[in-house]
Amino acid sequence: MSTRYSARAAEHAVTAIRLGNLRVDSTAMVLGHNPGISLDIPVWGALIEGSGKRIIVDTGIADPSWVSDRLGPCWQSADETIEGALDVVGWNPKDVDIVINTHLHYDHCGNNHWFPNASIFVARAEWEAAHQPVSSQREVYCERDWLRGGLTLFDYSLVDVDYYDLLPGIKIIQTPGHSAGHQSVLVNTEGGTLCIAGDAANVEENFMGKPGGVIVSVPDALASIEKIRASADSILMSHDQRIQPFQSKEFPRIPRVATADCC
Ligand SMILES: [Zn+2]
Repeated sequence: MSTRYSARAAEHAVTAIRLGNLRVDSTAMVLGHNPGISLDIPVWGALIEGSGKRIIVDTGIADPSWVSDRLGPCWQSADETIEGALDVVGWNPKDVDIVINTHLHYDHCGNNHWFPNASIFVARAEWEAAHQPVSSQREVYCERDWLRGGLTLFDYSLVDVDYYDLLPGIKIIQTPGHSAGHQSVLVNTEGGTLCIAGDAANVEENFMGKPGGVIVSVPDALASIEKIRASADSILMSHDQRIQPFQSKEFPRIPRVATADCC
């Protein structure tokens, strides 16, 4: 199945917003790689504009001190809060029509409540997994994050269709592996099909046969990476150190071929 958009599909503009920073072990980015070496990584959300709609993919971290106390160093500058980042681009939270969560880890859904008029889209499998997380991911799911501000199940649209047509030129695809119900977003842009990949991939090395290290299924993670490679031209990953704040073009190209190590 060809999933790339034709030139006739509606084009959308995408802007990366930086919603904080985390210090993690290198093994979080590439499974088993450089254990004991710390990395400072950004947390990216994405703004999509087009078809008369405003959409945000992933809403970042609500409480950096909670993260620092429980999981490891986390910090935000003034323009890395949801309020500060939206202010820079001139978006009023009331004007956001749709929130998409790639998944429900604490650094992707903490500010869903900021958007009072938005429908929130999350995969049904993720909603279910988040309420009964596997033991290795109990620390990164906290119901408080997705129900903050009085949100309930009824504020959420649960996606259980793959290649879900959200709007002309925007599809939601299922990309499990990092979490059980992870999803990614394909957006038709001026520069081709962009995949807003959440944590389905973290770094370019993940496209070389080496998945990330925070994972519930290696086979699923590798299959999701191949699905993204087959579906998109460029990529915006949630923790990519190559992205600049408020970047809106020339997102990294997806390596076309996995270069396997020779035996
Ligand atoms: Zn995650």
